[in-house]
Amino acid sequence: MNNVVKNIEISQHLNFGVGGKVSHFVTASNKEDILSAVAYAKKEKIPYLILGGGNNIVSCDKKIKCLVIKISSEPDSVGGEIKIKDNKIYTDAGILLSDLVSTTVKNGFVGLETLSGIPGTVGGSIYGNAGAYGHSISEFISSVTIFDGKKIIKTGNKDCHFGYRESVFKKKKWIIIGAEFKFKKGDAKELTKISEDIIETRWKKFGPKPKCPGSYFKNIIVKDISKKSLAFIDPSKIKDGKIPVGYLLEEVGAKGMREGGIYVSDFHGNIILNDGTGKYNDLTKLVKKLKSLVKKKFGIEIEEEVQYLHEKILNSR
Ligand SMILES: Cc1cc2nc3c(=O)[nH]c(=O)nc-3n(C[C@H](O)[C@H](O)[C@H](O)COP(=O)(O)OP(=O)(O)OC[C@H]3O[C@@H](n4cnc5c(N)ncnc54)[C@H](O)[C@@H]3O)c2cc1C
Repeated sequence: MNNVVKNIEISQHLNFGVGGKVSHFVTASNKEDILSAVAYAKKEKIPYLILGGGNNIVSCDKKIKCLVIKISSEPDSVGGEIKIKDNKIYTDAGILLSDLVSTTVKNGFVGLETLSGIPGTVGGSIYGNAGAYGHSISEFISSVTIFDGKKIIKTGNKDCHFGYRESVFKKKKWIIIGAEFKFKKGDAKELTKISEDIIETRWKKFGPKPKCPGSYFKNIIVKDISKKSLAFIDPSKIKDGKIPVGYLLEEVGAKGMREGGIYVSDFHGNIILNDGTGKYNDLTKLVKKLKSLVKKKFGIEIEEEVQYLHEKILNSR
């Protein structure tokens, strides 16, 4: 492959802006590029990682021997197509989620409008089953086209094992190539209003270009915790069977906590930001502290929503 770049700073591709060098980096602009990149990684005997928009990835700052395959969202590429037929949409993985959402809204397709303003690609959003305001992307997926390492196949929604910020893609080394969605028809004007309001709310909350990887930890599913822990929780905070982890973090005084250049925002206990000078070491210290404070006060172990990039994890997959 002649477009592999060696020894690049990965932080420039990650919204959080923390990270060191990766040994190999390539941009994949179509299915063939993805297949060639995987073959290249196999030939070089190095692990690979798929990168979408880099909005949910936190990297260590040691050099990592791997191939990062960035799914491009250039027009006419694997990321470039949204096809509409009746009430169905097919989109490639590198399409921006915001483009998919605005297409649904304009066409009066109901469902994805609550995901307005979530940054990232469709592939990254399917991987983590992105969602907001009680809905997630999986609710509207009929099938996902994947590369399983040998061939390109279609998997039905059920086989993707979607759950709260969960999918089969977190367990299997499959590459998402594209997906088909199915919608009910609604009123485009109403959907546009909902979408615009959500974008405005998000804008007010985050401001322009926040250096964060989104919500750091997952909310807590009530049925997964003990009665003893549940007794510490204010019942009015429970929503849709979940305890917002931001509430737990705020109860332990997380807002504004800082380690070096990494700090918890003063508007939300579950938003961790980089002031531009943050190091991975600062982050691990802060994360350890937050986890231990929540465990001590509520007996609950909080778990990351963000995806870590370091050699140990890549080699274990
Ligand atoms: C300001 C801000 C607000 C956010 N708000 C929300 C929110 O409200 N709700 C929410 O759910 N998330 C939110 N996020 C997190 C993030 O936007 C989502 O997780 C998004 O879906 C990530 O997409 P991405 O393309 O950036 O994925 P990346 O960060 O590039 O990748 C995330 C994971 O997906 C994998 N991946 C990416 N593409 C593929 C592919 N084609 N095939 C296989 N694996 C792939 C990567 O390997 C990685 O493990 C927010 C982030 C920010 C910065």
